[in-house]
Order: sequence, then C-alpha cells, then structure tokens
Amino acid sequence: MQPKLFIDGAWHDAAERGTIDVINPATERVFASIAAGTAADIDRAVAAAKRAGQGPWARTTGRERAAILRAIAAGIEAEKDRLARLEVEDNGKPLAEAEGDIADTIYCFNLYATYAEELEAKQGEQIAVPDDRFRTTIKYVPVGVAGLIVPWNYPLLMAAWIVAPALAAGCTLVLKPSEYTPITALALARICHDAGVPPGVVNVVTGLGRDAGAPLAAHPDVSKLAFTGSVPTGIAVATAAAKDVKSLSLELGGKSPIVVFDDADLEQVVEWVMFGIFWNQGQVCSATSRLIAQQGIAGPLVERLAAEAQRIKIGDGMGEGVQLGPLVSHQQYDKVLGYMETGKREATLVCGGGRPAGFNAGYFVEPTIFTNVPPSARIWNEEIFGPVLSVADFKTEDEALTLANTTEFGLAAAVMTKDLERAERVADRLEAGVVWINCSQPNFLEPPWGGMKKSGVGRELGTWGLMNFLEPKQITAYRSTDPWGWYLKDTKTG
Ligand code: NAD
Repeated sequence: MQPKLFIDGAWHDAAERGTIDVINPATERVFASIAAGTAADIDRAVAAAKRAGQGPWARTTGRERAAILRAIAAGIEAEKDRLARLEVEDNGKPLAEAEGDIADTIYCFNLYATYAEELEAKQGEQIAVPDDRFRTTIKYVPVGVAGLIVPWNYPLLMAAWIVAPALAAGCTLVLKPSEYTPITALALARICHDAGVPPGVVNVVTGLGRDAGAPLAAHPDVSKLAFTGSVPTGIAVATAAAKDVKSLSLELGGKSPIVVFDDADLEQVVEWVMFGIFWNQGQVCSATSRLIAQQGIAGPLVERLAAEAQRIKIGDGMGEGVQLGPLVSHQQYDKVLGYMETGKREATLVCGGGRPAGFNAGYFVEPTIFTNVPPSARIWNEEIFGPVLSVADFKTEDEALTLANTTEFGLAAAVMTKDLERAERVADRLEAGVVWINCSQPNFLEPPWGGMKKSGVGRELGTWGLMNFLEPKQITAYRSTDPWGWYLKDTKTG
C-alpha cells in the first residue's frame, strides 16, 4: 500500500512527503507506512470538503444519501474478513473481536441510512405555536464541513460512529484517524468512493495529532468537530473549537464503576466483570475498571476473578482461541506497566502485574487485579486504559454510591443485584451517561452514547448522533395582512 492521503476523490502524497511507520503490536514489526499529513494537507482537504458541500451533494435528498450509506455498508461487508485482519494487525485485538467491530460498522452505516430516510420525512414539519396567524416549520440543514478525529481502540468502528451520521446529515468531512491504527480508515475512503460518494465529500488525512489533528481542529472552515479520544486532547480540541465557535461533540475517557451487591449471582458477576475489564485488552472507554463489591461477596469474588484471569489465553490476536492480545503501542505498554508498578505501591496485587512469561516480542501485559485500593490511589482515579482492575469494598448502598460517583469521569457505570428495585434506584443515582443493570458493556447503536463530567460533551449514536451534524432551522411565516396590528395589540395589552 502506498502512503497516500485521500483528498477530493483521489490519492495524494503528503505535502511534506513525510511518512509514518505502522507497527504490528504483536510482533513489533513495521507492516505498513502511511503519509504524514500536515497543515497544508488539512487545508487542501478542508477546501475540497467545502467545495463539495456547495455542489450537488448539498442538494441530495435523505433517500439518496441512504442509498449511498447502504452501498458503503455493502462495500464493507464484501471485504469484512480482510478488514478484520487489518484491524488485528493494526491494533492487536483478537480476531473474533475485530470481526465483531466490522459487523457493528456495517450495522452502523445501515442504521444511519434508515435515519437519513426518516430525516427526509421530518423536513418541513410544522411546530404548533400559540398564535394561528403564524405558521412555523422546521428544516434540518447540514452543519457544514465536519472535522472528525478518532482514536485507536476501535479504529474503523469509532470512525463509523461519526462518519455515518455526518453523511446521513449531508455534511462533507475530513477524517483524521489515529497514527497508530490508520489502515482501515484509508480502506473506508476507497469503499466510500466506490459506493458513489462524490469527490471531496469524504477526505482522509493521516498523520500525527499535533501535525494533522491540531490544524484540523483549528481550521476556520470546519464548522463542526467530533472528537473521540483522551481528556487532555479533548480539551485542546475544545479550546480550538471555542476560538471559532464551532459546533462540538467530545467522547472522552472514563473510569467506570461496577457496583456488586452481595445478593448478586456470583457466576454471572464473574463473567460480566471479566468482560468489562479484559475485553479489548481493557482499552475501552467504558471499561468497568473499578469494582466496588459489598463486604461478604468481595473476598470470594476476587478469588474467582483471579482464577479466571490466570486462565485467559494471551497471544497474537490472529492466534486460535486468543482472548487477550497485545496493547496497541509501545507508548501504551509503557504507560500501563507504569500504572502496574504504581498499583503495587498503592494497593494489594492479586494477580498479574507485569509482562507475561514467554513473550519475547509484542506489547503484551498480564490481566491484572489489585484489591484494597484506597479512594486516593492513582490506579483508582486515573484512566489506565489497559487490563487492570481495581477493587474496593463497601458496607452500605450510600457508601457504594459515594465510591462510584467520586470521580471526574461519568461515561458508564454498572450495578449487579437480584433486587431490581434497588438496581433501578442505584441506576438513577449513578452519575454516568450509560448505566448497565446486571451486565457490563452491551452496546447498541440506537440509544444515545456519551458521558457526563469530563467524559464528554453531547451524545453520539442513535438520532442524537445525527442531530450533532444538523442545524435545526425554524421558518416562521406571518399569514395575516395586518403586520403591525399583531405587534401593537400584544405590546399594548401585554
Ligand atoms: P488521544 O487523545 O491521544 O488521540 C485521539 C486522536 O486525537 C488521535 O487521532 C490523535 O492523533 C489526535 N490528536 C492528538 N493530539 C491532538 C491535538 N492536539 N489536536 C487534535 N487532535 C489530536 O486518544 P487515544 O490514546 O487515541 O485514545 C484513547 C482515549 O480515547 C481514551 O481516553 C479513551 O477513553 C477515549 N475513547 C473514548 C470513547 C468514547 O466513546 N467516550 C471511545 C473510544 C476511546
């Protein structure tokens, strides 16, 4: 594959001709090279998107865009095995998980095709106003050029979550994938083109965050920024957005609690806690990385979890039956190992805590559990973004909620109990955008997704995700022949 950028319907070298190596995290070998986009490439891509937004794309109907979105879904479906393998090479995740990501990506494009059709039906809808001399209708217009910046943990899926609604809304876009996992975003550019997306509507500029992401966030012709990534980068993007008063949505980090009461079914709790922290190597924004267990169940639960964690099959994501692949990059590996060392000083290590034996290459770490974690510990408060579970116990429901809610994040939370009244009560009091009862991590694309507090701004997915890319516009018409009469009457009597 040539290291090129996709701009205005064609492949281009980066303006400065730089390239970036892409590394397979299981082998630490370079498996691809991408173009290192910079501000000049972003300028070119945004200009193409702006032009395309003023051309025939602006006049497409929701039904026409739905047909294109379905063609993109079909294009991904036709290459799904290859795309899943690329995702494993790029990110390290087990193949079965990558296959799940691609299936969700296809579903996402089809879902937003349906929303594009529904949007057309809503165009010009009348809103009741309390004066029948006026008629108010609502039109939904695309917000303009969208700058989309995504992370590496679900490379294609995180892109789909914002590319699909942007296209459904009729926006044009510039997508900046993570420099660690850019390959499937480039494949998406080609698939979009083949599906009939006009030149300039979808542009993909690869590159480093500071060289390509920052100029995209700061570009004056970008009207909307949708960012998924860490809190510090989110703040930088929000600051850039504020300068031009751009529309903004942020999907940021988390440190999500899973609260387990002593009446919960131990076997089910073990399954969900394991999934909630070790899925995708724990590199999940909504990972339930803080286990808050009621005294009584806490001891036996931690014992069972430790036994299960030590049975997890670690290896190259392409390997048969592998459940835990390598972390995405050397940087992430160093960061997670650093937290494991911090945890050994702050709490009691139950299992894991380092590199698994027998691995000479690859960014592998062990599934790790710490117990007796005090609320002041760094491993309790900071997002590790790796397979590290921190456990604390509680006596009362209020104590559990205080532990759960004392965090700067508010993305997700889970509660496990057989008492459904209590489950509902606790769910209401958990400060999170997503709450799970007796499970962790199920994710559907129809409900809203996003966080409270520092976990983000706005919501993605469902029709909320579509609204992110639309400007609702009211058109109010006066239907009387007596213009001043209305005003004078109301001001005199009012
Ligand atoms: P990151 O913030 O380091 O990078 C995200 C993207 O921003 C990358 O494409 C990067 O190149 C780009 N970037 C970096 N610096 C930039 C700058 N100054 N201006 C503009 N763009 C810049 O995050 P990451 O390490 O790639 O991803 C992990 C983070 O993403 C975690 O915190 C995780 O919780 C979060 N995340 C959140 C959700 C969610 O839905 N809330 C989903 C997935 C991941």
